[in-house]
Amino acid sequence: MEKTQMAMLKLVLLGPPGAGKGTQAKSLSEELGLAHISTGDILRQAIQQDSELGKEAKRYVDNGELVPDGLVTKMVIERLERPDAKRGFILDGFPRNIKQAQDLDGFFAQEGYSDYKVIYLDATEKTIIQRLGGRMICKKCQAVFHLTNIPPKEDSRCDFCKSELYQRQDDREETVRYRLSVYAQATKPVVEYYARQGRIMEFDADRESSVVLKEMLQGL
Ligand code: AMP
Repeated sequence: MEKTQMAMLKLVLLGPPGAGKGTQAKSLSEELGLAHISTGDILRQAIQQDSELGKEAKRYVDNGELVPDGLVTKMVIERLERPDAKRGFILDGFPRNIKQAQDLDGFFAQEGYSDYKVIYLDATEKTIIQRLGGRMICKKCQAVFHLTNIPPKEDSRCDFCKSELYQRQDDREETVRYRLSVYAQATKPVVEYYARQGRIMEFDADRESSVVLKEMLQGL
């Protein structure tokens, strides 16, 4: 595909927590010039800034529960309407249930976006627990590190902006297990929803991220 066509790509990234959606969405958005829209990042930023949205979302995010659809869908649609997203985007963390998928399809139909693709990253529970257990996030730029897989150069400091790293409250083991059950119940049916539409491109995300990225770029 031509670079200009790639820049107009509309992608939805699905997969369980810990499959590497955030890392891959960041790489894909940089490679392909797409707006990276991560609902988790937007919510965590709102929580840090203690905005109205942040105040409403905090207890859901901390407990690994889904934030109410109305709040999240409105937030995503507002973001998709910005000029950079009109030139191509990658949605990371949305939709998370059938209602969100249907509302997104309604918005896409209204915009005439019939050619969007869905990337499904699948990973085993063993990989997920190992990845999320050691994950560290930058407080400022949200860059992701891992105590053993991607250790920061300086202890607990971001390689890029030198801010402090922290462990997400919802990456604690019992909350991870709860998030996996939310995924199985609410989000897995979304994979089937898109499979019925013939849109799914599936990748084995147990492998190293650079291998998965290369395969995704070839597949697109
Ligand atoms: P993530 O960074 O994608 O793992 O998301 C972290 C948390 O943000 C989730 O566990 C939810 O509490 C919330 N969240 C992110 N995306 C959504 C969504 N599409 N719908 C509802 N809640 C969401």
